[in-house]
Amino acid sequence: MELRTKLLVGGDWVDGADRFADVNPATEETLAQVHEAGPDQVDAAVRSAREALPAWRDLDPHARSVLLWRLADLLEERAAELAVVETLDNGKPSFESAKVDLPSVVENFRYYAGWADKLGGETIPVSGPFLNYTLRQPVGVVGAIIPWNFPLSMAAWKVAPALACGNAVILKPAEQTPLTALLLGELALEAGFPAGVLNVIPGRGPVTGQALVEHPGVDKISFTGSVETGKLIMREAAATVKNVTLELGGKSPNVVFADADLDAAARGATTGIFYGKGEVCAAGSRLYVERSVKDAFMEKLLERTAKMVPGDPTHPKTRLGALVSKEQRDKVLSYIEAGREEGATLRAGGEAASVDGRGYFVEATVFDDVDIGMKIAREEIFGPVVAVLEFDGIEDAIRQANQTIYGLAAGVWTRDVGKAHRFAREVQAGTVWVNTYNRYDSASPFGGVKQSGFGRDLGRYALEQYTETKSVWVALDG
Ligand code: NAP
Ligand code: MG
Repeated sequence: MELRTKLLVGGDWVDGADRFADVNPATEETLAQVHEAGPDQVDAAVRSAREALPAWRDLDPHARSVLLWRLADLLEERAAELAVVETLDNGKPSFESAKVDLPSVVENFRYYAGWADKLGGETIPVSGPFLNYTLRQPVGVVGAIIPWNFPLSMAAWKVAPALACGNAVILKPAEQTPLTALLLGELALEAGFPAGVLNVIPGRGPVTGQALVEHPGVDKISFTGSVETGKLIMREAAATVKNVTLELGGKSPNVVFADADLDAAARGATTGIFYGKGEVCAAGSRLYVERSVKDAFMEKLLERTAKMVPGDPTHPKTRLGALVSKEQRDKVLSYIEAGREEGATLRAGGEAASVDGRGYFVEATVFDDVDIGMKIAREEIFGPVVAVLEFDGIEDAIRQANQTIYGLAAGVWTRDVGKAHRFAREVQAGTVWVNTYNRYDSASPFGGVKQSGFGRDLGRYALEQYTETKSVWVALDG
């Protein structure tokens, strides 16, 4: 596939108001000059979505299902090419793009293709001579604003259910990683989606994103990204009382009890923080280890960490890629500096790295003797940096795990079934992994509590984000 760099608006590739450089973070080379949607192009995208909406909403639901399935087939046919583009744009290892991201994107579209013709309402027994029933109807025009860590997956998580429910979508990818979203738009056209049903408009957040959030023709914003931007979007969406879904950051606890299989726990803790270079909203960035097994566990953890060497993301054996940008690399390094200054013990990594003298890499980094008062224990670093803390017993584990403003995910490692379920019940998180970490499935809901946001992506729960329920009363005595 050839790269697309223009905006997809109303089924046409159009010029933006400006251009920005999209960089390959592993080589520091510019991949493409990408068009940016200014307020006029955002307005054009909203108008085309509004125009497309009635016919799309009223289309035979089986036909919507067929289109989504056809798009899944096209994504599957082009998976190898899309994975390469994803790796070049984001810096993630090709192992991740090709073996994890692309198959799950295809699955996601198939999963929601299955839902498109199953969105029934219900009949409700009410008092009096009335028939009461509900209709599930699309919200309307959905603005999807997504981050750069899983560009195509995040697009799929929002676009697939929104389209299945009969909404028209305007997708604003992150400025660091716009390329696969544009190719998704191209494949949607090839699959036969009507013009305007899916628009893709790259651009900077405060320009393109903000214009989308402010636009009165947009009915809903579905956002994944940072807490700060989430708060801003929530405030701005208030002006037009837009429906909002927010999937924000995390500082997820991964808790290892003394009775756990320590080898499995060390493996899970390593991938829990270093998968996706730690640029994962659910990354297990607070690693709690029960005091009595701390030394034994640390040995295993450090042994595994030593194997996580930054490498060329396009090489199939690489497991630690480049951070997405120079800014993100520098931000992560400043957290490492803060960890050192605040007195945590650096046990592995801690430095910037490069491959062939280039790229925004950071070593796999482990801080021990961390206190919850430290910045590295409280704030989302979004990089390959783990903070190790200690605990004693289940009460202490639950108390410490919940000592955060976030509530996205949590992990627990134990052979004690009761302890596992008690932790799962009491930890404040949208997802809990028991004796595993970083598992996702199109059928299983994902989202946060506390300042990690609200609403759920994936599963049948996402359908609730993209439909309104209408209650209809019919007099039976007339
Ligand atoms: P971000 O600002 O939240 O970006 C997410 C999306 O929101 C991007 O598409 C961004 O566009 C857009 N955006 C930014 N400002 C906006 C505004 N005023 N109105 C509407 N949309 C706006 O995240 P970031 O700056 O890329 O990363 C910063 C930090 O966020 C990271 O270091 C990490 O801690 C966290 N983060 C979390 C997640 C997650 O999945 N929870 C994902 C990414 C980042 P641009 O890309 O053009 O700015
Ligand atoms: Mg890029």
